[in-house]
Amino acid sequence: MTGKISKVTLAASATILSATALGLYFGRRFSWKQASLLGGTPPSLLFGCYAWRICREPTPPGPSGPLGPPSRSSAPIRVPTPQPAIDPIPLPSTFLIEREDGSPPAKILILEGKIEEQESDVVVNAANSTIRGGSGVDAAIHQAGGMKDGKNIIDEACVEVLKTREGKLLADGESVITTAGEMRATWCVHTVGPHGSALKKKKKLASAYQTSLEIAMAQEVPIKEEEGAVRKVQTISFPLVSTGVFGFPRGKAALIATTTIRDFLKEHSQLTEVRIVIFRDSYFNENRCAYAAAVKKLELTALA
Ligand code: ADP
Repeated sequence: MTGKISKVTLAASATILSATALGLYFGRRFSWKQASLLGGTPPSLLFGCYAWRICREPTPPGPSGPLGPPSRSSAPIRVPTPQPAIDPIPLPSTFLIEREDGSPPAKILILEGKIEEQESDVVVNAANSTIRGGSGVDAAIHQAGGMKDGKNIIDEACVEVLKTREGKLLADGESVITTAGEMRATWCVHTVGPHGSALKKKKKLASAYQTSLEIAMAQEVPIKEEEGAVRKVQTISFPLVSTGVFGFPRGKAALIATTTIRDFLKEHSQLTEVRIVIFRDSYFNENRCAYAAAVKKLELTALA
């Protein structure tokens, strides 16, 4: 009898523990609501999600979009890293990237701004795997995309993309494209950067930039002066993917972003300008130092 009870106790404990572990995983990746939708979640799984949210993300949320509570609703507490011994990059700064085929050089423009206000052909959204809205860049982009018939234009477009994928969520490093709605850009790429900084995650961050550039290049935009005429995408703007709620270290992220963009521009003469948009928040100077270090390490040629 005692043996039977202890077996039952063991089995129950194991179930609760594994469900809680799953909860911690889902809680980290998704909002509580999304996690519960994902798997008809048992109470302990919900508890795990909730525990993760409480322990990991206790600070107040950033700007929220029109879609209700963001899925990654608040920034993790991070101790600011000591200021590196390098001056912040002046903004704006432009760097010339020579092409392998000898065509005119491309520009990497690093500037202060808001991604949703950029006048490039494509803007990139730092999305999560559900592409149904979040905080930070994601919220700003969904909001700036505007509303039509009472519905959020970007969210509706994301729903359509998910339908073509039969609901399959995006993997880290993967990107999809939608209209940019009422933003100045024509297209909006939604890319999913990785959380954290393990070695294989560096590849995922590089992939987020790479797949964004690839998918953007395949699109066309209207030529303003010529009615009905189109041309291939030439310009694209990035935020600092993964360095907000996803917590990727800024220095490493800046080097990965700059290297990936530089290498891509070398090989693809279709693209003329890539913007890296640094948002003025409490990490503004830290981000500027990270980019100063990255362009120095890569020995990029600054345009005087
Ligand atoms: P992630 O979840 O990929 O970390 P976040 O949106 O949380 O993405 O943050 C990514 C970076 O974008 C951070 O450096 C953050 O400060 C910055 N950011 C936040 N809002 C904007 C905005 N409107 N335009 C450009 N960058 C922004």
